[in-house]
Amino acid sequence: MKSLTRRRLLGQAGNLAGALAAGVPAGKAGWTAASQLRVVIAGAHPDDPETGCGGTIARFSDLGHEGVILYLTRGERGIQGKSYDEVGRIRTAEAQKACEILKARPVFAGQVNGKVEVNYTRYDEFLKLLQGEQPDVVFTHWPIDTHEDHRATSLLVYDAWLRMERKFALYYFEVMTGMQTSQFSPTHYVDITATEARKRAACFAHASQNPEEFYAVHDQMNRYRGMEIRSKYAEAFIHHSQSPEVALPT
Ligand SMILES: [Zn+2]
Repeated sequence: MKSLTRRRLLGQAGNLAGALAAGVPAGKAGWTAASQLRVVIAGAHPDDPETGCGGTIARFSDLGHEGVILYLTRGERGIQGKSYDEVGRIRTAEAQKACEILKARPVFAGQVNGKVEVNYTRYDEFLKLLQGEQPDVVFTHWPIDTHEDHRATSLLVYDAWLRMERKFALYYFEVMTGMQTSQFSPTHYVDITATEARKRAACFAHASQNPEEFYAVHDQMNRYRGMEIRSKYAEAFIHHSQSPEVALPT
């Protein structure tokens, strides 16, 4: 389906749950199988997409859309005392488990944590990967972040967005705000109260990464963002103003 039509339909994304709840046939509400959106969440390491927008991914999948979690690396530097290959295998299995919980399809971009590169070859490589996925919406790291791999992922997505003629909706997510992400002033929120348990389970699938510790930080973030929209839990995003204006699940 052409992206323009998909984007128009995305504007109705928040209405699907209401239509279904009200017993309105999907067709009558303007929905058909062809209106399914492809939502790509690009993060640097296994656990970044889950912590930044796991609740939102689950909400999209509940609405019948297709979620793709794109990991730039397999987090090879993430366990001390083990080889990169061994860590990559462990963390790939954890990412696959997390994706199962969120009903998303994992994709690995093939860069290596600790050796991430941003250059013309990598820009081309990442562009081809994203073109192959034909996203309607992409979420990625906010570029002002203490972690070099988070910044790299953000730049690779931004470059692909420019070269794909700014056609997909582009949103930035936050991770460990205050510790990693900074200068983050949200433009959009998604209430994740209904999906927080799945987000938590997906984050805890990353058992090698001390999830009790990192999730505690995100739990505070989810609650704080929830306070801002008067819900229990929320995730917050910055929409790129030159990308298509779309409605997130409401
Ligand atoms: Zn990370």
